[in-house]
Formats: sequence, structure tokens, C-alpha cells
Amino acid sequence: MNTFNIRKIQLLSEHSINRIAAGEVIERPASAVKELVENSIDAGATHIEVTYGHGGKALIKVVDDGHGIPQEELLLAIQRHATSKITDLNIDDINTLGFRGEALPSMGAAGQLSITSRFHHSDSAYCVTVQAGKISPVKPAALGQGTMIELTHLFHSTPARLKFLKSDQAEARAITDIVRSLALAAPHISFSLYEKSSANDRRKVFSLMESDQESFLSKERLNRLVDSKFTENSFMIEGEINDAKIQGYCSYPTYHRGSASALFFFVNNRPVRDKLLIGALRGAYADVIPKQKYPLAVLYIHYPPQLVDVNVHPSKTEVRFKNPALIRTLIIQTIKEKLTEVGYVSAPIISTQFLDKLNRDTPTSSESSSRPDSETQVPKTSGQSHLIDDFKPSQNMFQSDVDHHIAQLQDQEVNYPMGVAFVQLHKNYIVSQTTNGFIIVDQHAAHERIVYERLKQHWSEKKPETLSCLVPQVIELTNSEVEILLEIASELKELGLVIEPFGNDAICIREIPAILNNTPTEPLIRDLLDGLEEGKGIDLIDEKMNEVISRISCHGSIRSGRVLTVKEMNELLREMEKTPLSGQCNHGRPTYVEFKLNDIESLFGRK
Ligand code: ADP
Ligand code: MG
Repeated sequence: MNTFNIRKIQLLSEHSINRIAAGEVIERPASAVKELVENSIDAGATHIEVTYGHGGKALIKVVDDGHGIPQEELLLAIQRHATSKITDLNIDDINTLGFRGEALPSMGAAGQLSITSRFHHSDSAYCVTVQAGKISPVKPAALGQGTMIELTHLFHSTPARLKFLKSDQAEARAITDIVRSLALAAPHISFSLYEKSSANDRRKVFSLMESDQESFLSKERLNRLVDSKFTENSFMIEGEINDAKIQGYCSYPTYHRGSASALFFFVNNRPVRDKLLIGALRGAYADVIPKQKYPLAVLYIHYPPQLVDVNVHPSKTEVRFKNPALIRTLIIQTIKEKLTEVGYVSAPIISTQFLDKLNRDTPTSSESSSRPDSETQVPKTSGQSHLIDDFKPSQNMFQSDVDHHIAQLQDQEVNYPMGVAFVQLHKNYIVSQTTNGFIIVDQHAAHERIVYERLKQHWSEKKPETLSCLVPQVIELTNSEVEILLEIASELKELGLVIEPFGNDAICIREIPAILNNTPTEPLIRDLLDGLEEGKGIDLIDEKMNEVISRISCHGSIRSGRVLTVKEMNELLREMEKTPLSGQCNHGRPTYVEFKLNDIESLFGRK
């Protein structure tokens, strides 16, 4: 046995304990910024100023106008587990962002820390510094109000940690993200963030005025922090179940992102990243957004603090709810309800982006003669003539039809959000005139949504509308395909598709959903099998049926290429107005795009 490595058990010094713990609480500059800003919020500040240098590695400075720290408590503030926020008696009822009493001592161990503070109503300010665990005596200092904390040389005494930090830019981005989410968490506080590159050079990253509404967010803050087009492409939600409340903003389904980067959740005003919450939000959008996409959202959940455990992780960004199912239902129900209400709206951004592109790409007259036709050039000369060819009214469109609908539009009492349709272009695009613009509808996508919603409703109410097949149709399949279909035969029946086995390798169709009308059934059955095959791993019958319903809707809806009469076009628009979620097809693509007269006028230089 080799004994030279055996060591005595020893108590670690307070300083070493702090250095180890620092790794948990302060793992990178952004976590120090988070802890400091949280302290300022807890201290009742109304203005918080954050400055960082070299991604926070060289300098982090947070100045606030909060209540400050009394002179006699300055030394205590940098002791481990010393906090003014909880006591041994109310440890389960946390109403502040901080509560562990670990942040300041960890920072003192991880870098050079200086705290200057003036307790409110006190005549003078005091300062204490910690360098490599060594605490200086408390000295008088100059400061008008609040607290100023500076942390420099972060991790310089622990090169191993320093090595794990990312580039200055990446660390700076992390700091900005943290301040963004805290600024959303505390709308009543004004925030400013600066980057200091040298002794006398300071650049403003952003600054935000406090929201004037007592408790809620300004448009400016949302657009600055979430996404510059967020407020015009989102709707507000508000809901409540028992003692759980939710409010916030969610994007229209057609305005989405490829990642969760614009999702902000707050539980009792604490920013959190929580799988349960993200999962519930995605659940609410499941029907209207492509699977790999995320909506943009800022959501505030309020739930009695005794029923939320925030002490799950040192960074306090995870929470555990006493009743997670309730929170999930609250999120899904509130958002779905509102989505259904606003669901026929397609995000304005789509037409704005298109108009921007048009503005950028339309060549000036001198340019157009010399520039070759490029793909991005809209409109193309050839495209234009094509458009004119197709502009002939469809064969079934009678002037009286058009007149009748114009009369309807002019009738003050009729206000159709989707407008009145006049013409169909390229046998798929319905153009309708609204009160202050026009709309282009993709007839196939729009009808698909309508059929989808109707089938879903039939299925959930178990009241299908069916057509019986006069001559039952027999479709030959493989043995296993027959099995796959028969497994869900009873659900298919509730949807109106009645199938029976016909020997071992065929099925017989007796009834079909009325919506399918004259649609050939064999391609439909093949398509259903493809869908069921793709979702093989899915055991949930609801999800299987969603897939089935989505495929049936595609088969049962008006194809692109079908010529519609003016009456049919308008019927489709009225149907869209009535149908929940009709602003997007069930693949999350928009079903229509709206153009405002204002935008069109500026496109033509009329404004
Ligand atoms: P915690 O926030 O978990 O209590 P910290 O180590 O972050 O622990 O802070 C310790 C204590 O120092 C706090 O409880 C608070 O009393 C005081 N403190 C820290 N920062 C500020 C500040 N900006 N304004 C007023 N008091 C502060
Ligand atoms: Mg704290």
C-alpha cells in the first residue's frame, strides 16, 4: 500500500469554502452581474446602472439608488450565509430575489470587491473592500445615496476558472442577456448598461426608462429587449386559476423563431428557465406552429411563494411548483383561448417584410435598364405580363356577383375583418378588399385550416358528419398496414371514417367524413399510413389522431388550382372569420397576408 498520499481530515478555512462556493454562484461574469442587480432590485432601487469592462473579466460595476447598507452591517454583508432577506423562521416564504447570503462573499473570494453604501437617512457613506479574501477596515466614503459595488480582476487568482471563460464578446453578450431579462422582470425600474473599454471611454449598450404604468411593461421595453417588432406581432394574455395567475405577451403563430431565444418566463418576478414552462408554452402552440419552431413570449406567473421552491439550484433560475399540473393548465388554457380569439390574424410582419423587400429591390429607372433580371428583383418584367394574363375574371364570376359584394362592403353595418373578395389570381390566391387595405389569401392553406378545425371539433365531440359509401370501397394493403389502421379503427369512426377488415390484407371503407365529399379515398388511406408510420413511436392516441386529422384536412380541402366563384371566395373568407386559428395552416404557415393602404401608398411614394 502506498501511504504517502493519505492526508488528515481538516476543516477548510472560510476563505477556501468561499472559493469553492464561488464556483457555484459566480461561474462567469454574467452571474456576478445577475447577483448584484438582484441585490439592487431587492433593495428597492428605482434606477440601476451596470458597467462592464472586457466582458466583465476586468470590471463589473453596479450602482443603485436603493436603501443601502448600514455602516455596522457592511462587514456582515460579506460573511457567508449572512442575509437580511430571510430568517430562520420564514425560510419557506421567499419574496426577494436573493436569500442565500452567498453572493457577496463569493465575489470577494473570486476577485477584488469593493462595496460603498449609504444607508438611507444616514449622513455619510462607508466603504469596505475584500482582496483575495482579506477584508479591509470599514472607512468613510463619498456617495450621495444607495450602493455602488465594484468587482475587478474576476478569477485572476484562479487561472483554471479564468481559462474556462469565453471571449470578451461572448461574456459581454451573456451580461447583456442577464440585464435584459432582469429589466423585463422589473419594469418599474430604469436600467442602463454601459461597456467600458478604457479609463475614459464608456459606450452605452442600452438604457430604459421606467415604465409609467405601475406594474406593466412599456412597448419600448418589450421591443428593445425581446425583438424590435415584438409588440406589433404579439397579443396580450391574462388568466387565473385558483391562486395561480399569468399575464404577458405572446407572438402570433406566424411570427416564430428557430430557438427558444426570445422566451422569457418570470415566476413571482424572478427570471427562470424552466422546462415545464417552455413545454407548456409549446403545448399551447402545438397546433399552429411547426414542430421545430418557438413562439416569442414574455410571461409572468404569480403563485404564492410558499408553493414555489426556488432553492433548486444555486443560480435560482429553476423552480419547483407545488402543483405543476395547475401551472401547465394555466399556461396552455390561457394562451390557447386567446390564440383561438386572435387566431385568424396572421402576423403583420409578413407583409411588412415583403414590402421592405419590394422597396429595397425595386430598381430605380436608371438602374433597371442596366441591371439584368435577378431572382430577387420584384416585380420582374416577365412576372408582370404573366400577372396580367391571369388577371381575367374567372369564368364563373358575374358582374352582378361583384356588385352585390361591393354593396355589402359599402354597407356600414357589415364589417368583415377579412374583407370582400373580388378576384382569384393564379387559381389559388384570393384577393379581398378590407376597410383599410387588402388581403391575399392562400385558398388551399386557408381551407385546410378550416377543415382541420372542423374535424377536430367533430372528433372531440364524437359527433362526426359522415357520408356512407354507396359501394363500399376495398383497398388492398399489406397485413401490417391493415393492423396499423385497425388499431385506431374506433377513433377513426369517431371522426367519420368507418373501416372494416376485408380478409387479411385489405380494408373496406363504409363511411367517410362528409367533408371529404368526392375525394378519392385510396390516396388518402395511403397518406394516413405514411403519417402513422412516421409517428411510429407515438403512443398517445391524441397525437396520432392529430396527424390523421391533419392529413384528412389536406385531402379534403380546396386544392390550389381550383377556380372559385366570387360567392365561394367570400364564403371561404366568412368561414375563416369564424374559424379559430385560421391565420395559419396547421403547419404554421400563414393562410393570408394583409397589406395596409398606408404601406402601399408609401411604396408608391404617395406619402
Ligand atoms: P442575499 O442577497 O442572498 O441576501 P448577498 O450576499 O447577495 O446575499 O447580500 C448580502 C446582504 O447584503 C443582503 O442580504 C443585503 O442586506 C445586503 N446588500 C447587498 N447588496 C445590496 C444593495 N445593493 N443594497 C442594499 N443592500 C444590499
Ligand atoms: Mg443577493
